[in-house]
Amino acid sequence: MSMSTIKLDFRDVSKVFDAKDRQVIALQGVDMQIETGEFVTIVGPSGCGKSTLLMIAAGLETTTEGAVFVDGRPVDGPSPDRGVIFQQYALFPWLTVRQNVEFSPRVRRLPDERRRAIVDHYLELVGLIDCANSLPKTLSGGMKQRCAIARAYAAEPALLLMDEPFGALDALTRTRMQQQLLNAWYLEPITVLFVTHDVEEAVFLGNRIVVMSARPGSITRIIPVRLPERRRQEDRLLPEFTAIRNEVWAAVYESELADKEPVGRVTAEV
Ligand code: ADP
Ligand code: MG
Repeated sequence: MSMSTIKLDFRDVSKVFDAKDRQVIALQGVDMQIETGEFVTIVGPSGCGKSTLLMIAAGLETTTEGAVFVDGRPVDGPSPDRGVIFQQYALFPWLTVRQNVEFSPRVRRLPDERRRAIVDHYLELVGLIDCANSLPKTLSGGMKQRCAIARAYAAEPALLLMDEPFGALDALTRTRMQQQLLNAWYLEPITVLFVTHDVEEAVFLGNRIVVMSARPGSITRIIPVRLPERRRQEDRLLPEFTAIRNEVWAAVYESELADKEPVGRVTAEV
């Protein structure tokens, strides 16, 4: 028997959006349990309901059927112990980097010294300590996103929900950000749910990979990742890494092809 506890619990979650003249089934029967301290990645094609699932967990969107529980309590709105990072870095443009990161510690009315220690720690961690007094508009995309991550971490959430946070970054910055995120998580293994459409990213980051397919959005596979516990860039070259990546890729691609004509048919008709 494992002593693990369930942090985040999706119970038979469905979501139907009412569009103008039709209904969109964004999620159907999503059932998933995430343990405390796990790093779970969700991968799937565009439109399969990844963002909707995350918004529901964040309490920013309601379910049509089913419910989401955090620590056994039903989610009925946003909460500071659930940090959210979107693809678009949401920084306050009129606040400096330091003030952005300091936002939550201030709201929580932490004493000056503790507040400064937290902010310094996370600015250091994401490599922005030298830009602490800059305004967001003077930073590159990668730096802004690092600032958003530092700010989310400074809120010290027990659960971090990330929606394609590195999607807009160039390949090298993206790789660095992935490693920094993991390094931060090794120091403080909070529960992370990370959405991406990038298979390689899902494998590099995740303890488990949830594969979703569209029409209607649902979970098709859950793939455990058995790689070194502390991952480094060179692990991408391991045969095990390639094997898992291929497995995930096939699972994602399979669901993409599922409603297309069988490939053999065209040749058969010639
Ligand atoms: P993903 O993040 O995987 O790309 P989304 O969760 O954004 O997918 O969207 C899932 C489906 O729900 C899509 O078909 C999308 O068009 C639809 N959808 C998302 N949000 C809304 C909304 N607010 N109103 C209507 N349809 C929506
Ligand atoms: Mg999305």
